[in-house]
Amino acid sequence: MKRAISVILSLIIALTLSAQAFAAEVNREEFYPIIVVPGYSSSGLYMNNEDGTKTHVWGIDTNLIFKRVIARSIDLAKGVKDLTKGNAKYIADTVGGEFAKMFEHMRCNPDGTSVYDVHTYTSTAADSSNTYLLANEDGKYMYEQEIMGMYGSYIGDDWNDYIFNFSTDFRMNVESCAADLDKYIDSVLEYTGAEKVNLYCVSHGGQVGATFLNLYGEKKADKLNNVLLTIPAIGGSAIAYGFYTGDIKFDEENLLYFIENGMMFENDYHWLLSNENLDFVDDILHYFLPYVRYIMEYWGSMLDFVPANEYEKIRNSYFDSEKSAALLEKSDRFHNVTYPAMTERLNACVDAGINVYIIAGTGNRDIIGYNATGDAIIPTFSSTGATCAPYGERFNDGYRTLGTVCNDRSHNHLSPSMEVDASTCYLPEYTWFVDGFYHGMTIKSDYNTDLITTLMYTDDRIDVHTYKEFPQFHADTNRCQAVFAHFDNSTEGYVSSGDNSLIIENCSKKYDLRIVSVYCNGLEIKFDKPFMKKIPVGGRIEIPFSGNIPQESGVKTEITVNYVQIGAVTPIGSRTFDFTVMNGEKIGFDSDNPIIKNGSDNDALLTTILSFIPQLGWQKFVTIIYNLLKALLLNIK
Ligand SMILES: [Zn+2]
Repeated sequence: MKRAISVILSLIIALTLSAQAFAAEVNREEFYPIIVVPGYSSSGLYMNNEDGTKTHVWGIDTNLIFKRVIARSIDLAKGVKDLTKGNAKYIADTVGGEFAKMFEHMRCNPDGTSVYDVHTYTSTAADSSNTYLLANEDGKYMYEQEIMGMYGSYIGDDWNDYIFNFSTDFRMNVESCAADLDKYIDSVLEYTGAEKVNLYCVSHGGQVGATFLNLYGEKKADKLNNVLLTIPAIGGSAIAYGFYTGDIKFDEENLLYFIENGMMFENDYHWLLSNENLDFVDDILHYFLPYVRYIMEYWGSMLDFVPANEYEKIRNSYFDSEKSAALLEKSDRFHNVTYPAMTERLNACVDAGINVYIIAGTGNRDIIGYNATGDAIIPTFSSTGATCAPYGERFNDGYRTLGTVCNDRSHNHLSPSMEVDASTCYLPEYTWFVDGFYHGMTIKSDYNTDLITTLMYTDDRIDVHTYKEFPQFHADTNRCQAVFAHFDNSTEGYVSSGDNSLIIENCSKKYDLRIVSVYCNGLEIKFDKPFMKKIPVGGRIEIPFSGNIPQESGVKTEITVNYVQIGAVTPIGSRTFDFTVMNGEKIGFDSDNPIIKNGSDNDALLTTILSFIPQLGWQKFVTIIYNLLKALLLNIK
């Protein structure tokens, strides 16, 4: 019942949101069914017992977890007490032991086969449409309900008939999951009598979807309409690297941003904590990891998740070549044959008429501390095939895109942050990047939902050049971001002499905003009296600027907006935007220093002040106050 209520609620939310969706004008009579290929571990799994009964083995049962927590409460209390003394082992062992017992039936043999007789609950179109699941399973095994609700609102009352939920034994190698998807598509085509289907693939589902296209796409081209891969793990996730190596160092600031984004907090609680206080998270994980490995070490999907550049090392160091021969053979094939052909195979699919789209996050540090920019779980290079500077660094001014896949010099495939070269993408014309977009938070941003519904709804092919509203690179505008800034005439993220003012938008859905200061690092421009200008919720203001934009292109610059959110618990904030000057000839490139540190250095006085302040949150606070005072002093001068 709770499920049914949440479905209704999400539908209401969805309908409210879709009112402003970009694709709302489209009017049509026929729709293709849409298949949701969900993220990792979404499928429910059961085990056949010898007496003919079934045991539920995967799909989190919160009641069961609660009972287990209660049963171990004395041990947990001791664990927490130890933890406050800096010892994480006891609590990790307590929780880890329970974890291993609960998920024993999910183990695989060294050759990658399941130890127990495990299956998915749903496997055909007939038993996995939203309509069927709502009537027979109380809505269980329905995925991505909010975004599907938005999509459904275009279809009409019977929209649940059009949504199909793919299940697979996600422990198995990705090529095995892709083969399941191939069969499932046939089942949906047959069941519905439709000519074509759409696929909406998320995260691990994106790796499954891309691998399916790679292996089966071309021969099924006349059956596939739109295939959208969002935050896809096409080339894996750094988490798998951390899983095998234990090389994990949580970036706590990033972790807290992740949580704030997940909860859509408009107040920045990460200010309250210092970095050092959170090292216990690493300790707990260190002791907990062996229990997770005990359950998951021979899952083919984990090995397939290892990013290409780490694969050889991990396969050779952590697996017995005889006992795991069959498992390694499958993962070798994915890493050495299938994945290296991804660009070629996906382009063949596009040429054969399938609309293939990718949306990926960038600009966030990997959650386990892996040195790659991404959505915190999937590195951008894995989702998109883009060439990226290491996290915290960027390509130097004047950088020329490598052009290995798109070599059209009239296209600009370099991100405004100069961190992402999209010319090497699997699909450079069909890949969108959202800077600051965290994994799994697709529907938190109206921009994302508008882009997704537009791509999914339209049968005509759309690319990154089609709509000014949906450029290849976008800085996240979800409500946690407070402000968004772009120039009046250039595409967002770029500036040229055609611009006269900076437009600042209030992204909050709750708090009015006052601008404290706006300053540019890298250009000699000055903004016209922004101090204390008010922007109401959902509003925007235009701030004219004076000064010249130099006649050159390929130069990175940054604009920082300091603001006060009126009435917020943590009212003072700051956001820095990346811009690239696009105003004439591209400047020369210093090939001796192709990659440089990103961001601008603090001035000497601020650096000195900050060296006395250990806490990250206070450092940020002091930086904003310092810059505020500096901006005021400069204005007076
Ligand atoms: Zn291009």
